[in-house]
Amino acid sequence: MEKRKKFMLAESEIPTQWYNIVAEMKNKPQPMINPQTKEPLKPEDLFPLFAEELARQEMNDKDVWIDIPEEVREKYKTYRPTPLVRAYGLEKALDTPAHIYFKNESVSPVGSHKLNSALPQAYYNKIDGTTNITTETGAGQWGTALAYATKAFGLELAVYMVKISYEQKPYRRSLMQTWGAQVIPSPSMSTKAGRKIITENPTYQGSLGTAISEAIELAMQTPNCKYALGSVLNHVSLHQTVIGLEAEKQMEMAGEYPDIVIGCFGGGSNFSGISFPFLRHKIKDGKKTRFIAAEPSSCPKLTRGKFQYDHGDETGYTPLIPMYTLGHTFAPANIHAGGLRYHGAGSIVSQLLKDDLLEAVDIKQLDSFKAGVLFARTEGIVPAPESSHAIAATINEALKAKEEDVQKTILFNLSGHGFLDMSAYDQYFAGDLTNHELSEEELNKSLNKAH
Ligand SMILES: *Cc1c(COP(=O)(O)O)cnc(C)c1O
Repeated sequence: MEKRKKFMLAESEIPTQWYNIVAEMKNKPQPMINPQTKEPLKPEDLFPLFAEELARQEMNDKDVWIDIPEEVREKYKTYRPTPLVRAYGLEKALDTPAHIYFKNESVSPVGSHKLNSALPQAYYNKIDGTTNITTETGAGQWGTALAYATKAFGLELAVYMVKISYEQKPYRRSLMQTWGAQVIPSPSMSTKAGRKIITENPTYQGSLGTAISEAIELAMQTPNCKYALGSVLNHVSLHQTVIGLEAEKQMEMAGEYPDIVIGCFGGGSNFSGISFPFLRHKIKDGKKTRFIAAEPSSCPKLTRGKFQYDHGDETGYTPLIPMYTLGHTFAPANIHAGGLRYHGAGSIVSQLLKDDLLEAVDIKQLDSFKAGVLFARTEGIVPAPESSHAIAATINEALKAKEEDVQKTILFNLSGHGFLDMSAYDQYFAGDLTNHELSEEELNKSLNKAH
């Protein structure tokens, strides 16, 4: 009999609830701080910015399980449950005793996991009476997902897209426009935050931090307009737990339990999504599973950043978040093509890392592309450069297992496919990419400007 490769769930097995890990953490994340009052943030403080239910989810540290609205589950059915795949091809190429599994989130209509949170965010805004949403996007993945989701629930969307990506990734822009969104390169002249940065530095290529400032400013000044964020925040991680909850059932079908769970790390949403449902068993049942967040060497907030209160955006509009950060004015070197460029990490993941419940590794740019190409050639799927960081970390663990001659079961999240990132692959094939490591000097410079 042929070995089983793909583990599929029925539509009825899409989770009916998200998993809220904060309710079960012994050391809860420290509260976010309102920058005006310097008091711990209350849900009401976020109502001007976010749909009320999202603000409540953001600060919910009581309910372990939170119901997924039926309207959202219906939309999830377009692409969920996603497959869990045993990577026999990659195992063979590495000649490893490790069993490698990946959860394939690239099958969503937008090509990444981001739709898992875009859909509920659009839904909760719709039932609140919001008509317009603003957001930012870096590589364009989040903007694409929110464009799809706002269209699905009948809302208008304006996206501030980091200028360098706007110019280098025209097809993401077209995708957003196809789903009806308006796309503005950031920094722009349409906001105070944008104008200030452009006048100080006319050639600035933009950063996520700046784009967030612009999107927040527009939302605050426009009636019935709210803001949405695709990573970092607790409610985003909450929505992403559908990934791990499905994977838990699928690993059971495969008759295995992961020794190691791996995700790439930008602001933490896909890593949280695959990890938290398994981390639950480490917290509650003493399971020994290791959890590894894989970040780029050129944006190393978890491995080299500092744990402190910092803003989520460049200008300082957002609440102060207790997190591992490189400083909110940090922008990674332009040579870095692999995404995951955000300066900070979510407060839940930051606390878990501080408490040694998870680990972080940094991946060099060339290693991530090499891993991505090997994966494409052995498993047939071209990974997003972001996801390739998780693949590189997986390969490192699989080779370690080979060296030590032990059987390990590794599960990683394939957060997206790379069809719209082929220009980055081209740069890699042409030899135009290099490894870039952040110098101590650069690191200290941006950290000193942290809050
Ligand atoms: C946005 C994105 C990431 C990084 O964001 P997280 O919030 O850390 O998950 C990773 N992979 C893909 C494909 C993405 O689009």
